[in-house]
Amino acid sequence: MSDFVLPAPAQPSVAVQGQSARFAVRRIFCVGRNYAEHAREMGHDPEAEPPFFFTKPADALVDSASRIPYPFGTADFHHEAELVVALGAGGSFVATEAAEALIWGYACGNDLTRRDMQAVAKAARRPWDMSKGFDRSAVVGPLRPASFGVPKGRIRCLVEGRVTQEADLSEMIWPVAAVISYLSRLVELHPGDLIFTGTPAGVGPILRGQRCEVQIDGLEPAVIEVI
Ligand code: MN
Repeated sequence: MSDFVLPAPAQPSVAVQGQSARFAVRRIFCVGRNYAEHAREMGHDPEAEPPFFFTKPADALVDSASRIPYPFGTADFHHEAELVVALGAGGSFVATEAAEALIWGYACGNDLTRRDMQAVAKAARRPWDMSKGFDRSAVVGPLRPASFGVPKGRIRCLVEGRVTQEADLSEMIWPVAAVISYLSRLVELHPGDLIFTGTPAGVGPILRGQRCEVQIDGLEPAVIEVI
């Protein structure tokens, strides 16, 4: 191994359900507007657009059960409950029928967002990096290996125990396999890549002192407390 002029940074990773070994993360891709009701609440026609992607830095990852400080630069800090898929294999131009075989596991995720800053960026046609890819903006619960099956059923977000988002995973406009296939035509995918697959309607604020929990049937939840 080569030497570095400074110590190498820590390897970003996420927890794995039922074992101490963690899943090393390479990159984080996120899908925008993948549930029709959420596309409508953000002022878009869900039928008109192919999937689009943005990214978060891998070191924005936060484990479930973390306490995170209310982020700088926003007065409208939002939750987005999402199914996260972790890739165990990569590829380019992956056929939809072959895409599921790349998946190593699934987790509950929370795509934390500075909504006010994102609105300014949208209006000014500026990038979303600082509204989506800030420190501690990528909450991911423990991964459940794909050998346990493909998650089906309900996805929910609760703030202080009150349900704010609730949908069925089958309501995704672009199913997981289609998302992977589409993304693999834009970048070469690699083991360790995570994909946040989009959020249903009902996004909203998390305030200081509040607890926010993302639940998906059959997966361990992703919980944070904002301080
Ligand atoms: Mn999102």
